[in-house]
Amino acid sequence: MQNLWNDGDARACGDDPLALRVYTSRLLGRDPSLVLHGGGNTSVKMSARNVFGDAEDVLLVKGSGWDLATIEPAGFAPVRLDVLRRLAALEHISDTALVRAQRAAMTDPAAPDPSVEAVLHAIIPFSYVDHTHADAVVALTNTPRGAELIGEVYGQSALVVPYVMPGFPLARAVYDLSRRIDWSRYEGMVLLHHGIFTWGDTARASYDAMIRLVTCAEERIAKAETARHPEPFGRLRSLEGRLREGSALPPLSLARLRRAVSDAAKQPMVATLIDSPAARAFAARPDVSSVAMRGPLTPDHVIRTKRVPVIVGDDPAASVAEFASSYADYFHRHDDGTRTMLDAAPRWAVWPGQGVVAFGRSAREAAIVRDIAEHTIGAITWAQALGGWRALPERDVFDVEYWELEQAKLRKSPAGKPFEGRVALVTGAASGIGRAVATALAAQGAAVVTADARPIPSPIGAGAVHIECDLTDASAARTATERAVGAFGGLDLLVSNVGVFPRSAAIDALDDDTWRRAFDVNVASHQRMLTACVPLLRLGVAPSVVVVGSKNVPAPGPQQAAYSASKAALTQLARVAALEFAADGIRVNVVHPHGVFDTALWTDAMLESRAAAYGITPEQYKRRNLLGVEVTSQAVADVVVALASPAFACTTGAQIPIDGGNDRVI
Ligand code: ZN
Repeated sequence: MQNLWNDGDARACGDDPLALRVYTSRLLGRDPSLVLHGGGNTSVKMSARNVFGDAEDVLLVKGSGWDLATIEPAGFAPVRLDVLRRLAALEHISDTALVRAQRAAMTDPAAPDPSVEAVLHAIIPFSYVDHTHADAVVALTNTPRGAELIGEVYGQSALVVPYVMPGFPLARAVYDLSRRIDWSRYEGMVLLHHGIFTWGDTARASYDAMIRLVTCAEERIAKAETARHPEPFGRLRSLEGRLREGSALPPLSLARLRRAVSDAAKQPMVATLIDSPAARAFAARPDVSSVAMRGPLTPDHVIRTKRVPVIVGDDPAASVAEFASSYADYFHRHDDGTRTMLDAAPRWAVWPGQGVVAFGRSAREAAIVRDIAEHTIGAITWAQALGGWRALPERDVFDVEYWELEQAKLRKSPAGKPFEGRVALVTGAASGIGRAVATALAAQGAAVVTADARPIPSPIGAGAVHIECDLTDASAARTATERAVGAFGGLDLLVSNVGVFPRSAAIDALDDDTWRRAFDVNVASHQRMLTACVPLLRLGVAPSVVVVGSKNVPAPGPQQAAYSASKAALTQLARVAALEFAADGIRVNVVHPHGVFDTALWTDAMLESRAAAYGITPEQYKRRNLLGVEVTSQAVADVVVALASPAFACTTGAQIPIDGGNDRVI
């Protein structure tokens, strides 16, 4: 493990203990094999002056909701040290009461809630304390000889604490231990099945100790792996070779799995295929159904991943149903009647011989699960070389999954965004209406895939995927949908928007190329996209298609035969689709925008010349409709989003004008 300490960067912190605390916390956070997504915590003890000028000893400890990789001084909660030390000596206190007491002892009420491990940090009599869930250390402890292996690696230099539930019970156990020991004799403390603490008088000493101790664990694992496979990683390579020959997970199978998981979760879920060589090699292990089902890397992960993944068989829906029923059994086995059961859907899947899939209520959540699953897979592989993977008993995992603090968070958690978990594909999304629609859907929580012949100038929402492709190319629709499924697991919404506006020409001056191009882009590419998407939409959640037509369909203009005729054909295609897809619950609706001037189609010069032709100003020209309003891309996007929402659950085959009112249309 690389020590990332840099003298220059550290000097820039001066001798400010908090700045140094921020600096080394970020160094820890930069290595995902130490901490993942909000895991781990750090602290510094220092003296601070209150408003009366009195010095107070406080513990500045990572606040909840902060990530070590990006933490700032404001991410540390200042708590009076004497209160924390008194709390440690209590015989019993519930974690809810502990959190309240910690909050009441803060010297800054605007700071975030202190980590629930604050008491434990307070007990350790050193200025700096670092805590991580290092993969290598936890993997060593998740084996049948865990405590023994840790003893072999660290000798007398590390304290070893058997697994205790995090929060007050763990702090209390360490408090009892601390009365019998001389902390200065140890470099660190290993918590079996959980993680590792190090400490020091300086930020550097504590950080260096962490890197040193974790490196020892990594070296022990490397020794076991080399002994088992004389050629390091040779086995992995041969598996990879075999996997490359096989085909990737078929899109429809993945969509079927995602639908089953969404049904079990009672909400749409995003599914992400984990396509790393390690994940594929893991899925190809002959013993994968056994090793994957023994439990998580650390109980800290269980909130995001559940205790075990679903093992997918021939029928994904049956496998998920079986998982859900065994999850309910697990809940009832351990619930004392006071807990609220979480949804019974799995958060990751192992498809033997095929691959590994992560699920989440959003693309972001699925990405977090993907990272955790990848680290879990790595740790399982290591532990198998060390005598076998043995995670915590399910009772201990349950206690963390259904911890009173987590249950309280559940009750307080705000409702998700309306399109959370839904997957949308928007064509022609590099600019104008398409871009506005994609941005609006992403803002409402959708996982968005955009397709356009042009690159996208700036990303649309976090995690959005852009596919650069020419949709008039016969294979592009299939490639685009396959990539959408690979990224998010399925498809719920198609916004078929791609279009061209050919140059104006009277019919007697119309050339074949203009006509053909208009029909190629405005009709044929939509037809190919519908054909490619419909099998996926059938497996989607509340599936829907919105086609972007034109006001020219109900009210054509002269010299625009190719445009008007192609948009009319597109509308007719959408009407037939509404008829054909209704039996599968797929809604198909059309919007007919007009006078959307904030698109790439309209330059200022064009606007000026059109306005001059009518003897009005460009501003008047933009509002030339019954309502006297300007129709923007955003206005069109709002209607498209509404049409795809449950508000229009009973509407299909509709054609909605978005034109500010036009007497020829009305
Ligand atoms: Zn921890």
